[in-house]
Amino acid sequence: MQVQLSTEQTAKSPGKLVPFRFRGVGGKVLLTSYFGDWTFVSDEEFRGLYRGELSDELSGRLAEHNFIADKLDVARTAERMRHKKRFLNWGPILHVMVVTLRCNETCVYCHASRTDMDRVDTDMSKETAEKSVDLALRSTAPRITMEFQGGEPLVNFPVVKHIIEYAKERNRAYGKEIEFTMVSNFSLMDDDKLDYLVENKVQMCTSIDGPEKLHNKQRVLVGGNAYQLAAKWIEKINERYVKLGLDPVLYHVEALLTTTRGALDMPKEIVDTYSNLGCRSIFLRPVDPFGFAGRTQSTIEYERLRYMNFYRSAVDYIIELNKQGTQVLERYASIFLTKILTGDDPNFLDIRSPSGAGIGQLAYSYDGNVYASDEGRMLAAAGDETFLLGNVETTGYRELVTHDTVRSMLVASNLDAQPDCVNCTYNPYCGAKPEDNYIKLGSIHGRMRESNVCAVHKGIQDYLFEKLAEADEDTLEIFRRWTTIRERTHFVQAAAAS
Ligand code: SF4
Repeated sequence: MQVQLSTEQTAKSPGKLVPFRFRGVGGKVLLTSYFGDWTFVSDEEFRGLYRGELSDELSGRLAEHNFIADKLDVARTAERMRHKKRFLNWGPILHVMVVTLRCNETCVYCHASRTDMDRVDTDMSKETAEKSVDLALRSTAPRITMEFQGGEPLVNFPVVKHIIEYAKERNRAYGKEIEFTMVSNFSLMDDDKLDYLVENKVQMCTSIDGPEKLHNKQRVLVGGNAYQLAAKWIEKINERYVKLGLDPVLYHVEALLTTTRGALDMPKEIVDTYSNLGCRSIFLRPVDPFGFAGRTQSTIEYERLRYMNFYRSAVDYIIELNKQGTQVLERYASIFLTKILTGDDPNFLDIRSPSGAGIGQLAYSYDGNVYASDEGRMLAAAGDETFLLGNVETTGYRELVTHDTVRSMLVASNLDAQPDCVNCTYNPYCGAKPEDNYIKLGSIHGRMRESNVCAVHKGIQDYLFEKLAEADEDTLEIFRRWTTIRERTHFVQAAAAS
């Protein structure tokens, strides 16, 4: 139950407290400060605080968590906030290269708005690829990631290779650290392509939507078995990493789940599928409204409450597996827990304030159009150019990142300026997506009480804080492990400025 008091009222209560927000979680009252510190108090203690009562014992406990204003180390707190928001100084780090819209699989929820294999007109040309790389290298970020997307990027492999080689060559003048990532269904992978990708340290990521039957139902590969092909290449790639002497806990194919209605009844089977494939990380993403998913919504969408029941069962099971010695984590939990337990921000672009649109990422479509985010270009493929910033032929870097659309999205995703978020207990750890608000609610400024994204973010944080309130030492240890950020330095292309 949420305690119905406004922050204004609480600010008038014991004068020594820093401003805080509160919410009933797990039979206790969760307090969070604007700096991201948190603690639980009992219902009785909270009522006492409201009346202006603060015992020495409670005062001491709250001081330990930085809730007592005159005991707050202001300089250290300012430094913590500066560190947490350091991504604001970087500029776009993620550069999505849509090398083609062609794809050989047909997915019921396709986010990427694919075209058929004969639509060669949706392939990115080498000239457009070079201009996209030139813009990406202009980013003020010292480290950038170029992510190959589609459609299916292996369909236009010559341009993938060209981007890698051209970027490395051009980067001699910039001296940035570069990472390359490919999001692929792997069905067109072969040994030559794999050799090239491994030699050039390209990280690989794929989709697994659950057990074979469910995966193949959702991801239709005419004349083939999408699941078996993905599983075969996951295994092969992971073996290659082992042969290179890389730690398999850190270096393995990342796989993403898109949770459709068909997945909701099989949380354990889905977790087992990932675990059996050797995946150490599961991202239980709900289906989103972009691309085809918007059009097939009536058959694959579901109530977010059903999703949250699925999420809770799946993560309960993941925790059990960890207790039995299988190391696997859930990505949403890992992102939120990193913010909650370490006070740092892992810079996941969709869950930060402000969001990464335009200032943390840019998406370069096959035709040279540049969008504020990957979601923006997916929306464009469905005929809505709202998030179009320019074209690689005609628009400069500065024009892109200072575009009015980017400025508007910044304001719309600043949680301290967003109704509901501004008073929400989870404000210090959360993030809003203007693109999602736009497509679902008709405005980049969302109405969070109607937002599915908010429902999921709130539901996951409720779940995590309930576990933190339970304070089971084994679970806490697992949660702490999920917040450990180990750099995959093998994939970072050395800066080679000349
Ligand atoms: S999106 Fe929802 S859960 Fe997140 S801060 Fe805003 S109101 Fe809270």
